[in-house]
Amino acid sequence: MSEIERHEFDVVVIGAGGAGLRAAIEARARGKRTAIISKSLFGKAHTVMAEGGCAAAMGNVNPNDNWQVHYRDTMRGGKFLNNWRMAELHAKEAPDRVWELETYGALFDRTADGKISQRNFGGHTYPRLAHVGDRTGLELIRTLQQKIVSLQQEDFKATGDYESNIRVFHECTITDLHKTDGKMSGAFGYYRNTGSFVLFSAPAVVLATGGIGKSYQVTSNSWEYTGDGHALALRAGATLINMEFLQFHPTGMVWPPSVKGILVTESVRGDGGVLRNSEGKRFMFDYIPDVFKEQYATSEEEADRWYTDPDNNRRPPELLPRDEVARAINSEVKAGRGSPHGGVFLDIASRLSPEEIQKRLPSMYHQFKELADVDITKEPMEVGPTCHYVMGGVEVDPDSGQSTVPGLFAAGECSGGMHGSNRLGGNSLSDLLVFGRRAGLGAAEYVDALGARPAVHETDVERAAERALLPFSSATDGGENPFVVQLELQKTMNDLVGIIRKADEMELALKKLEDIATRTRTVSVEGRREFNPGWHLALDLRNMLLVSLCVAKAALERQESRGGHTRDDFPVMDSDWRHVLLVCSALGEDNINLTRKEQVPMRPELFDLFELDELKKYYTGEELGGHRADQG
Ligand code: FAD
Repeated sequence: MSEIERHEFDVVVIGAGGAGLRAAIEARARGKRTAIISKSLFGKAHTVMAEGGCAAAMGNVNPNDNWQVHYRDTMRGGKFLNNWRMAELHAKEAPDRVWELETYGALFDRTADGKISQRNFGGHTYPRLAHVGDRTGLELIRTLQQKIVSLQQEDFKATGDYESNIRVFHECTITDLHKTDGKMSGAFGYYRNTGSFVLFSAPAVVLATGGIGKSYQVTSNSWEYTGDGHALALRAGATLINMEFLQFHPTGMVWPPSVKGILVTESVRGDGGVLRNSEGKRFMFDYIPDVFKEQYATSEEEADRWYTDPDNNRRPPELLPRDEVARAINSEVKAGRGSPHGGVFLDIASRLSPEEIQKRLPSMYHQFKELADVDITKEPMEVGPTCHYVMGGVEVDPDSGQSTVPGLFAAGECSGGMHGSNRLGGNSLSDLLVFGRRAGLGAAEYVDALGARPAVHETDVERAAERALLPFSSATDGGENPFVVQLELQKTMNDLVGIIRKADEMELALKKLEDIATRTRTVSVEGRREFNPGWHLALDLRNMLLVSLCVAKAALERQESRGGHTRDDFPVMDSDWRHVLLVCSALGEDNINLTRKEQVPMRPELFDLFELDELKKYYTGEELGGHRADQG
């Protein structure tokens, strides 16, 4: 067996986005020796790409905002399939996490009276997103990294070693988790530059690996997002929930082809941008669903008045939750009213002055100028849906972030439950701060309560190393190029388990995935272990396949349309499905077992935060019995 670098920690955090960094800060603060591992360079994660902002009911711009309103918005956005306890913790704790970031050195945009400014976003009743222009994620990551450096400086003063308590391993991909006597015992991976192996022994592991978007051809996600955390959890014996729910962000770039899928932030619409079809019509007024009829303007005049007088007017339908807007764009394009390159028009040029656009949306201005040669201060953008975010993920205990495997925790995008069937924009940055902290705390408390530490079995390490090297030995057997297989997988998911789904197409997808599974097992790579992207992809493919199977199987099973899951053959939301969670567990290397589980009923005082008439749109009559109004 080739040589393996070895480390021992109390807590190993896999992922250096917002969730991972916040978890690591907490674990270290609780006195745990903590490793942070990231597949890409330190500082390069999806969190850094977040543009719009971080949702927290601070009430700085509209004092009527509070955690209860945020909670209600989040549950509505998720179509009441959310884990209500997570949504409650999130709404209550998000403001503290944002203020805490300022103590770490973050500098958010301000209101005229010097408070943290908050902007409007789809599905949020009040301006709620704390932001830094359209580069909020950059500030969030910069601040969390700065906090880690300051902790390392404190450790240096105390021990003479900067890395005595918190150490970063970057460009290091984890490929296997190890369990001993049913408990977490470590993680195995390789360095991307040298190809050499590394073993981290630790009783607690926090997964914070982000999303799965790279299983789709058109996506806002970058190369790292191959569902590693989801797949690692499955293989370790943990369960995933809500995998049928994927968010197709309504506005990705559609042209030129090389940049198709890159995100166009929702802030464009939050700041006044409107969607038009090829006939120049502001079509979103035709797509307000019944459940949202009371909250959205029905005329352009009222919608426009809302920007200056939100208390006396209803919000524009361009700010409906993302699933609604994405489906509307899809329908317009299908009806032949699309833009020249298969999207619709997003117009901010006629709504704000060029100076305002450049001030509020500097990244969007540069993105379109440099990538598409479009000046958004003068002409509309062409946009269309792009696979953006996975609501499904590791099933965790809401308070501690622990999965069903002792010692394995998850937070951020790779965990499931918080957002139900659809996430509101801005709720991810707050999610990863709230639950990153909780997972770090949960992991530290778990380690404290643990007696003897489980040791990694040497045979498991040998097996992980052999598995990682398999694509090199397959070369002699003439296996396929991993890039070819990846493309096939992405096309299958895009075309057959995409934004609008049908049973026969998903059955076909599952057949194709069976074939792709066989091909994945034997993909082959040439060359050496140093700097070998083909080899890296060969290892990622196993994960992409496993999560794609979860998405396709769960999507076929759920016979209704809800949030990020739209069935052409079951077009309406069905109350009998609202309380059903689809749970995935692994059956061997590339097979998934799907079971149904009942959602835990909402705590009565949270249930009573909603009017009975609204709940009737989502709940069965039987379930409504406990509501205050129903009890007279
Ligand atoms: P990430 O930030 O995605 O980090 C994942 C980390 O895991 C990375 O460090 C990666 O290298 C590492 N990793 C993955 N696999 C492995 C492995 N096998 N081994 C080791 N490391 C691994 N949300 C909002 O709330 N507001 C916004 O304005 C917003 N804008 C967005 C704009 C874009 C373009 C995108 C793509 C997303 C946006 N989102 C936004 C969503 C949000 O940014 C993400 O959901 C969130 O940042 C995820 O954070 P995370 O900490 O869970 O994971």
